[in-house]
Amino acid sequence: MAECPHCSIEINIYDEHIKEDYLRCSDCGQFLEIASMNPVVLKKLYIEECLECFEDVFIPEEAGVGDVVECVECKVKFEILEVGNPPKISKLVVE
Ligand SMILES: [Zn+2]
Ligand SMILES: [Zn+2]
Repeated sequence: MAECPHCSIEINIYDEHIKEDYLRCSDCGQFLEIASMNPVVLKKLYIEECLECFEDVFIPEEAGVGDVVECVECKVKFEILEVGNPPKISKLVVE
């Protein structure tokens, strides 16, 4: 069991979960990343839709404005314009 960092409800963590897995709080809907196992630590994670392929792009809680995230699907990079829920991203133009 672990506590949702957003609403503090208990979340079941199963044996098949591994570090860096993503899950979603069933109560508040917050996306979470397993930051460590034993003991389980959950971090908030934000999700934005990729502007290219519409897959989910994961934005870690500690990401800041100006940080770059990459779409796992199409490998397009995005710069974070605003943090928060929801965050804002824009396509990074690489010369
Ligand atoms: Zn929650
Ligand atoms: Zn994409």
